[in-house]
Amino acid sequence: MQFTRLRLNGFKSFTDPTDLVIHRGLTGVVGPNGCGKSNLLEALRWVMGENRPTAMRGAGMEDVIFAGTDTRGARHFAEVHLQIDNTDRLAPAAFNDADQLDIVRRITRDAGSAYKINGKEARARDVQMLFADASTGAHSPALVRQGQISELINAKPKARRRILEEAAGISGLYQRRHEAELR
Ligand code: ATP
Ligand code: MG
Repeated sequence: MQFTRLRLNGFKSFTDPTDLVIHRGLTGVVGPNGCGKSNLLEALRWVMGENRPTAMRGAGMEDVIFAGTDTRGARHFAEVHLQIDNTDRLAPAAFNDADQLDIVRRITRDAGSAYKINGKEARARDVQMLFADASTGAHSPALVRQGQISELINAKPKARRRILEEAAGISGLYQRRHEAELR
């Protein structure tokens, strides 16, 4: 599985539609303070199902919608589209017949978030499970936030264990067990 494209529309500072092509290998994003580098990574985490507004540096999830500036009006929705190349067939079994995965998350003011996987409406859980099984996702240790290393050093053992479990790819199993126990 390879992320190939990230499209943002109305997400945080990306008010105009922005199309980021991700090539194989190392990609660097450089720019002055406040230009939106962290917002880009937050968009990636958000489309994978992040549901904590604080992880998006906001008080509520609607804070990810472009809030307007002196010269531009606020937007009513934000949308992020993640395109994934699955020609290596490494996506979880349920999605394994597709060469490409298109995950879209859209949030509208007062209407909350809606997800689509390959054009079909999906639940937040479906998207979260897709990435949990693929050992990536909103809480993946592969995504390191600004300031996260110092948080890790100061973390309690239980929090550190969760990070190791995510890295080992077993957090999807825990989520399923939790769901089974609720039934
Ligand atoms: P640094 O180099 O300091 O880490 P950065 O490139 O990571 O900076 P970001 O934190 O991604 O920058 O972007 C911050 C900018 O995004 C701020 O100017 C902030 O006003 C803007 N921003 C965040 N949320 C919104 C929103 N909902 N609407 C409009 N602008 C927003
Ligand atoms: Mg930053």
